[in-house]
Amino acid sequence: MHIQTRLIHAGEEQKIAGAVVTPIFQSATFTSEEGQGYDDIRYLRLNNTPNHNVLHAKLADICGGEAALVTGSGMAAIVTALLALLKSGDHLLIQDCLYGGTHSFVSQDAPDLGINCDFIAGNAPETWAAKLKPETKAIYVETMTNPLLEVADLEAVVAFARAHGLLSLIDNTFASPCNFRPLEIGFDIELHSATKYLNGHSDIVAGAIVGAAEHVGAIAHKLNRFGGTLDTHACFLLHRGLKTLSLRMRQHDENALQLARMLAEDPQVVQVNYPGLQSHPQYERAKRLFAGAGGVLSLELRGGVAAAERLLAALQLPASAPSLGGVETLITRPATTSHSSMSPAERAAIGVGDSLVRVACGIEATEDLCADFTQALAEV
Ligand code: PLP
Repeated sequence: MHIQTRLIHAGEEQKIAGAVVTPIFQSATFTSEEGQGYDDIRYLRLNNTPNHNVLHAKLADICGGEAALVTGSGMAAIVTALLALLKSGDHLLIQDCLYGGTHSFVSQDAPDLGINCDFIAGNAPETWAAKLKPETKAIYVETMTNPLLEVADLEAVVAFARAHGLLSLIDNTFASPCNFRPLEIGFDIELHSATKYLNGHSDIVAGAIVGAAEHVGAIAHKLNRFGGTLDTHACFLLHRGLKTLSLRMRQHDENALQLARMLAEDPQVVQVNYPGLQSHPQYERAKRLFAGAGGVLSLELRGGVAAAERLLAALQLPASAPSLGGVETLITRPATTSHSSMSPAERAAIGVGDSLVRVACGIEATEDLCADFTQALAEV
């Protein structure tokens, strides 16, 4: 069946007391029967209440994985997966442009635990082999980089991992399983900040991990000990949000595409980064691999920082806030938010100028969003 149908029906076999919607199980512990072992214990921290189980079944189904696991945040998913799959002495190849929390973890925390990494350029596969070590165990990328929306050579990542016996991990937050299903092209582990598109309403933090039962099981054991469970109330909201993912993604994609096209024509705009634009360097790859190019774009204005600030002030619909994937459009200047911990020189080295503006399109009417940008650009 289509993903729209599976988002609604997959994993829903168990109708509890006839309820059409899985109710919130606000219970820390559950009764057990004589003769049951540790693996049969049901306890909230073990992520195995009915609220967790229905999410696990649905996520595994829509991503095309054997098993799935939800976590207390996207960072809990990323860190727990890496610590479950790598041990002291292991080495990781990881994309150079990453979500800030992931970058900080692999560069600051993981080395303290004996796990070292080397950064790789996502679009220069010919340079990766030189960074391999006998102890290299995994390769990690993001579907689209933030905030420049670069699309790494994802097929080359899979081929490289297979050729060198590495596990391949991908943070698929920016695409969502509606736009791209990495397991279908051979990735081993798919990670999400479910805070974003999967939940879709900017009202919880959550994470998700999908892959082979063997890997997800090992990560689940680690998560149980680290205590990174997802609370059942947040599970309920994530479950509700997931059912409309496909409808929402269609509008996120459409809004970002139309806004990107409009901005690209505006004389005040010098650069628009969006993989759905033909001018994007990886447009052909995005078209081949993705059902849609997602809801996030970034732009540079001719007037630099002052113009960017005037644009943010003049816009009426978007809220000025970090994050993405909710129904409302959000706008930020990464130099002052997501990338503020980097020096201007470090930011310049990865192409994030101080005047760069990132727009995370919501699901408002495309015409209203574009009209708001038109009036705001007139004020710039
Ligand atoms: N991965 C990506 C691509 C993100 O954008 C984020 C958060 O912005 C995360 C991971 C971390 O997710 P969370 O904030 O849910 O921990």
